[in-house]
Amino acid sequence: MNILKQRAAIAVIGLMAASAAAWAEFPDKSVSLVVPFSAGGPSDKIARDLAEALRKPLGQTVVVENTAGAGGTIGAARVARATPDGYTLLVHHIGLSTAPALYKKLPYNTLEDFEYLGLINEAPSTLIGKPGLAASNFADLRKWIGANEGKVNLANAGVGSASHLCGLVLQAALQSQMTFVPYKGTAPAMTDLMGGQVDLMCEQATNAVPQIEAKKVKVYGVTSKQRMSLPVLAQVPTLAESGLKGFEMTVWHGVYAPKGTPPAVLAKLNAAIRTALKDPELIKREEALGIRVVTDSRLEPAEHKKYVESEMNRWSKIIQDAGATAD
Ligand code: ASP
Repeated sequence: MNILKQRAAIAVIGLMAASAAAWAEFPDKSVSLVVPFSAGGPSDKIARDLAEALRKPLGQTVVVENTAGAGGTIGAARVARATPDGYTLLVHHIGLSTAPALYKKLPYNTLEDFEYLGLINEAPSTLIGKPGLAASNFADLRKWIGANEGKVNLANAGVGSASHLCGLVLQAALQSQMTFVPYKGTAPAMTDLMGGQVDLMCEQATNAVPQIEAKKVKVYGVTSKQRMSLPVLAQVPTLAESGLKGFEMTVWHGVYAPKGTPPAVLAKLNAAIRTALKDPELIKREEALGIRVVTDSRLEPAEHKKYVESEMNRWSKIIQDAGATAD
C-alpha cells in the first residue's frame, strides 16, 4: 500500500471508531417523539405513555412534539426528513399505511424513508354520537342517517386518519353519504362532538372510553370482531353484529426513525421500546382504555415492516372501492 492509501485507510478507520463511540453513547441528550396529530388525542396519549416508559431504559428524557395536520402526513414528512441520528422519532398509526393510496402527492415514501422500530399496540374504534342525538341504538341511527342523506356530519382527524378510514368503511357499508368534517386530531373533534357541533365520530376506544363513561357522548357500536370486555363497553354490540357484515377495524401504532439511522442506534431504540412495553404501569393504563400492547413478532423491525406493507395492500383496495383521494 502506498503512503497516500495508507493515510486514507487510517483516516477512515479513525472516523469509523469515532462514530462507533458516538453511537455507543447514544442517547446523550433527550429524544423527541413526533406525533402527527394534535395534543390530547389517542396518538398523543399513546406517545406520552411510551415517552414516560422509555425514560428509564434510555436513561434520558423523552419529549413528545405534536406536528399535526393533513391526516398525519405533515408530521410523518418531518421525521422522514430529520437527521437520522435516533433523536427524532415518529409515533404514527395505521395512517402511515393508507396515505400512499389516498394522497396523489405524498412528501415521503412509507416503505423507503423510514427505519421500522416495532409495532407497539392495537385498539378497536367506537362509533359515537353527540349527546342530544335522538337515536338510542344503531338501528335507529342507521335509519336517521339514511333519511338525512349527505346531511349527517362525521368528524375525523383529516384524510388518512383512523377516524377518516373508519368513516369511509362505514359510509360504504351503510350505502349512505355523510359529510366528513376534518380536524387536526380527534381531540378538537371530540370537543366539538361533545358540544353538538358535529353529529358522529368513529374514534378509537382510547379517547372515547372516558367520554362514554362520563356520558358526554352516546355510543352506537364497536369495530372489534367480538364485543369489548371493558365494563363500559361490554353491552355495546359490534357493528358486524348490528348488521354491517364483516365490519372490523383495528387501529395500530408503530415507532419509526428516519432512513439511514445507524443500526447500533436502532438496536438500542428497539430494545428500549420492548422494555417500555413491559412496564406494568403502561400496560394497566392502556388496557383501561381498550388498548392491547403488542407482544408478538411485529415488535421485530422486519416483521413490523412486513405488517405495514400488508396493511398498505389491504387498505389500497378499500380506498379504491370507496373512490377516496386527497391532493
Ligand atoms: N385518533 C385520531 C385518528 O382518527 C388521531 C389522533 O388525534 O390521535 O386518526
